[in-house]
Amino acid sequence: MSDRIELSHMTPDTVTLPLVEIFETVEGEGTKAGYPTVFIRLFGCPLRCSWCDTTYSYPPFQAADVMTIKEICEKVKQFSSAHVCLTGGEPLLHGDRSALLLQELAKLDSLVDIHVETAGSIPLHPFLRALTSPKIRYIMDYKLLSSGESHQMHLPNLEVLRPQDELKFVVADDDDFNLACHVLQVYKPASVILFSPVWESMEPQILVQKMLAKPLPQAKLSLQIHKVIWDPQKRGV
Ligand code: SF4
Repeated sequence: MSDRIELSHMTPDTVTLPLVEIFETVEGEGTKAGYPTVFIRLFGCPLRCSWCDTTYSYPPFQAADVMTIKEICEKVKQFSSAHVCLTGGEPLLHGDRSALLLQELAKLDSLVDIHVETAGSIPLHPFLRALTSPKIRYIMDYKLLSSGESHQMHLPNLEVLRPQDELKFVVADDDDFNLACHVLQVYKPASVILFSPVWESMEPQILVQKMLAKPLPQAKLSLQIHKVIWDPQKRGV
């Protein structure tokens, strides 16, 4: 991917993106948990995390649809939510096209917050440079050792995260927890810090005990409330 985002040659009514789904529910995690939110799930991901729960967002599955950016925005306008979550797969995988979608979403007066769930392997600084709307925020999901993709993290991202952004660590075991603590100590990111347990392998109360014992006064526990409300395997909720 280019180090530069170039949008001037692109128009929202001709540029397309591959999609898995667009749906409205409540945000399940992070600082906006509980707000009604439209989820736009783009197709494609360069990573293959061992515990991925959205394997249908990359091959051998196929995109469910291909829509122009204008069509995606029209669809978002049909919902009443003021929050949008751009997710995947890896929603920044499509470079300029991902950025154009964010730019066009930010123009919608009905939206107050557009957060991008990125896995951390794609450089953030070209997006931060090209997109200046205060509505757009990045949630970097730092892949720890148990994911098998920790080596893919683009570490300079940790230095460009802003106070309105979020850095999330999904923790499966002690090695994951220790790496997350090491990353925080070395990079001291300016963003909100979130710790979340891998639903199947880490009891939330164990993670809380670890956070208190470390201690990690700057970190916030984040539980996936949609897995409490609905069946954890259920899609589109
Ligand atoms: S980055 Fe997300 S979508 Fe991609 S493999 Fe990992 S968990 Fe799955």
